[in-house]
Amino acid sequence: MHLAQRLMLAASVLIAGPAFAQDSYPTGPVTIVVPFAAGGPTDTVTRLIAEPMSKELGQQIVVQNVGGAGGTLAATQVANAEADGYTILMHHIGMSTAPTLYRNLPFQPLEAFSTIGLVTNVPMTVIARKDFEPGTFQELVEYVKANKDTVTYANAGIGAASHLCGMLLMKAIDTPLTTVPYQGTGPAMTDLLGGQVDFMCDQTTNTTGQILGGEVKAYAVTTPERLDALPEVPTTTEAGLPEFQVGVWHGLYAPAGTPDAAIEKLSAALQAALKDPNVVSRFAELGTAPVDAAEATPAAHRDHLAAQIELWRPIIQEAGQFAD
Ligand code: ASP
Repeated sequence: MHLAQRLMLAASVLIAGPAFAQDSYPTGPVTIVVPFAAGGPTDTVTRLIAEPMSKELGQQIVVQNVGGAGGTLAATQVANAEADGYTILMHHIGMSTAPTLYRNLPFQPLEAFSTIGLVTNVPMTVIARKDFEPGTFQELVEYVKANKDTVTYANAGIGAASHLCGMLLMKAIDTPLTTVPYQGTGPAMTDLLGGQVDFMCDQTTNTTGQILGGEVKAYAVTTPERLDALPEVPTTTEAGLPEFQVGVWHGLYAPAGTPDAAIEKLSAALQAALKDPNVVSRFAELGTAPVDAAEATPAAHRDHLAAQIELWRPIIQEAGQFAD
């Protein structure tokens, strides 16, 4: 072979090298970082979709829990990770509230991440330790107002959905709450069951089993309609606070700069997972459902994130609660 031919061949191998690597992606395990403690609702949703996604990708998926700072610790970690498709993030509504809540957030969601697709939108429930005195949501409101210095409210840190829900509740009833932060609402639920904390607001993916088992008291679901999974639990609208509503949407993210081929494969694997019969039935039992296939795409997810950042900014600014 002439030198010129050899150089051309070497050049084409160099050019083809990275493209080939992406065609064969993934060639090793993919880590999904969960921004809250194990055993909580975000963790539950992630582990449910991880199994069928792993089958689709033909590689193991490792779920890594990195709780702290309302989910922003894990998001910062993934924003700074290698953009190779092997480290991705499951996050929820907190991705859209953090830019307003945190004065010094080390990343901007729309710049730091490539969106992969939306996953599910989970209702919240207002629950309490089972021997908590108030019997109804209305009584809870009265009780909290009368005992605001002693009643404790659990959340998963500033930026968590439980924090956001508490913030909306404080605004709706015009009463500050004494909050107790956890690394996630999995450990918060443990303390609620043990009676160390009084009440909290959490996704149905963490509370449905405990409510149906009678282990916690349920006051309301934060949706306009009652839920099939929890038909006995009234809505916040029925309880007279229609403005107190929140749904916890989840999405998958990769660090910005992750090759398109990897994002496409991850998105296709997500879409397949959301059709998996076990995912559909477990989500239904837990009071939620997979998003439509059209929403489990990078573009729909990105549009939703951008719209949610704008939606929550004035609400958070009006509530006036910020963190550094
Ligand atoms: N439900 C939690 C939250 O308040 C997070 C979790 O532990 O999944 O955002």
